[in-house]
Amino acid sequence: MSTAPGREKIVARDLSLVYSNAATQASHTVLEHFDLSVREGEFLSLLGPSGCGKSTFLNALAGLVAPASGEIRVNGEAVSAARRKLGFVFQGYALFPWRTVRRNVEAGLEIRGVKRAQRRSEAERFLRLVGLSDFADHYPHQLSGGMRQRVAIARALAYGPEILLMDEPFGALDAQTRESLQQELLGIWEHSAKTVVFVTHSIDEAIFLSDRVAVLGRGPGRVKEIVTIDLPRPRDAALRHSPEFVALRQRAWESLRTELDTARGRAAQTGVEHV
Ligand code: ADP
Repeated sequence: MSTAPGREKIVARDLSLVYSNAATQASHTVLEHFDLSVREGEFLSLLGPSGCGKSTFLNALAGLVAPASGEIRVNGEAVSAARRKLGFVFQGYALFPWRTVRRNVEAGLEIRGVKRAQRRSEAERFLRLVGLSDFADHYPHQLSGGMRQRVAIARALAYGPEILLMDEPFGALDAQTRESLQQELLGIWEHSAKTVVFVTHSIDEAIFLSDRVAVLGRGPGRVKEIVTIDLPRPRDAALRHSPEFVALRQRAWESLRTELDTARGRAAQTGVEHV
């Protein structure tokens, strides 16, 4: 459980990130004055309009893109040194289609050089955790979208990361599957000591899962407001109808709405719709 404040696990200070196009010499500032810290064991969501730089920030954390200026540290280290502490779950599942479910989950363990017998028993443990033991010998194309995403979560957990970076992992799923996977993810997270950074468009999803929600503004992207989600844990579906949840949804929506309005205003001026 992570509502108690822990030490800072991730710190980004005055980050700016610029994409440059070598062919056209054009540059595009995506993040500017971006400040955020995530505590050890915390579940933090990044909520913001499309294109505000949520994925870019995750990519910077993963060391896939380098900031133009500012500081970003994971566990007090430069991101290049912290890579093995990170696990990823993305929207597109990114499973190996030629590998069975079991061998997909074993992939992260192979990278770590874990021996075959131990790989097998670890993979079984994580497949049990996500309720897929009976599907260990299936291939990804034989599974539903929700099941594939559970394999992706099992694979990321099997790698043994301290931090899980999740980029709209449930974005492609139907509403019912999405809610049940949110519940499962919380169950897993509450029994682990993992720090989670979770990107989403969905206000409800962000509130249901998180200890804190960072609402991002854009033009360029920065953290506009942090909403603390002081709802009790463990959480279940009934919580979504509580007055406290509804009040937090309203608060986050107000914060987000001004960003959407600003973006629409800009689009009207330029004739381009970005939202
Ligand atoms: P979000 O995840 O919030 O939807 P992204 O981080 O994906 O936003 O993108 C932020 C902005 O950066 C967008 O305008 C996008 O078009 C641009 N962008 C993303 N990746 C690249 C890239 N590799 N090169 C150039 N521009 C990019």
